[in-house]
Amino acid sequence: KKMGIALVGLGQYSTNELAPALQETQHCYLAGVVTGTPSKAEAWKKKYNIPDKNIYSYDTFDQIANNKDIDIVYVVLPNAMHAEYTIRAARAKKHVICEKPMATTLEDAQRMLDACRENGVQLAIGYRLHFEPFHQRVMELGQKQVYGKVKQIEARNSSDMTDGSLDVWRLNKQLAGGGSLMDLGIYCVQGAIYTMGKPPVAVTARYGEVTKPNYFHSVEQSINWQMEFADGVKAECNTSYADEENLLSAKAEKGWWRLSPAYAYEGKKGETHEGKIDLPNIYEQVRQMDGQAHSFMKNQPSIVPGEMGLRDMRVLMAIYESANAGGKRVEIRYGG
Ligand code: NAD
Repeated sequence: KKMGIALVGLGQYSTNELAPALQETQHCYLAGVVTGTPSKAEAWKKKYNIPDKNIYSYDTFDQIANNKDIDIVYVVLPNAMHAEYTIRAARAKKHVICEKPMATTLEDAQRMLDACRENGVQLAIGYRLHFEPFHQRVMELGQKQVYGKVKQIEARNSSDMTDGSLDVWRLNKQLAGGGSLMDLGIYCVQGAIYTMGKPPVAVTARYGEVTKPNYFHSVEQSINWQMEFADGVKAECNTSYADEENLLSAKAEKGWWRLSPAYAYEGKKGETHEGKIDLPNIYEQVRQMDGQAHSFMKNQPSIVPGEMGLRDMRVLMAIYESANAGGKRVEIRYGG
């Protein structure tokens, strides 16, 4: 039997990526939606043949506890709302997939983990690239030391936001928790960690120049940072909301590799010192949700569990701490 997923928040990611992907999944399907906009409820109901009883507003959401069609709640809201809806879903005894970044504070991330544990449900983060062949190859090359030990990493993820509206939650610290780092830089943090197979011990960071102040008075435009791993390996990273870059690369003792574009949904390309990385571009949200639903069916943690989301939050918060202190080296403690 397929698990029923309810998407919470019908913005661009739910509309353009997740709902279409859920038409192709084998272990889960689009069973319901949670939306504050009645016209969206109506349109989704028709388009995806969703029964009335599986359509909720933010006010009626908690009643989802009584709905046997819904096994998984997928939170696709602005970052600062992830905690509340993850916790309410856990209390309704539903497994949860929560989009990245997991939360906007470490306290919220911990409360989300606690709520899921206390209610006996699984929590996974929407880290789609763990299910994607090019990134799985990077994990293998780095972690299995196929070309020897990794010596150096470079990761960049930037996307220009400065030709659109000023009135968007991503530019509002209250709702987004931060700027390009929370939204795009998190992919570089993840990429460096899964290249190494372990998290960094320290970071140093500096904000970039603000060239578009009308967009960036609440959240950062860009940030440059370095992640330092236990054996002295360094990852040089950068992210910006006023640029276009898309790279994950590494040098090892006996070779190198590079993905670019690395983080886009489609059109990934990769090469090593030996030549082109010949892998298919797949529908990664299909693989992601199928993988997560399959884990949940067996009541086992996903390969991208809530704990990984919290780990990454510790790195993101350390990067902000360092940048706020003008580039001071900040050590990171995990656990506890
Ligand atoms: P979006 O702005 O398109 O959608 C946000 C949705 O939240 C909208 O439907 C909006 O109506 C709703 N909402 C409810 N309360 C709101 C409020 N107070 N303010 C603003 N919106 C409110 O955003 P999106 O791009 O779909 O992103 C949603 C989440 O998904 C974010 O956490 C984002 O980081 C994540 N995301 C992940 C990926 C990925 O590749 N994994 C890609 C895109 C977005």
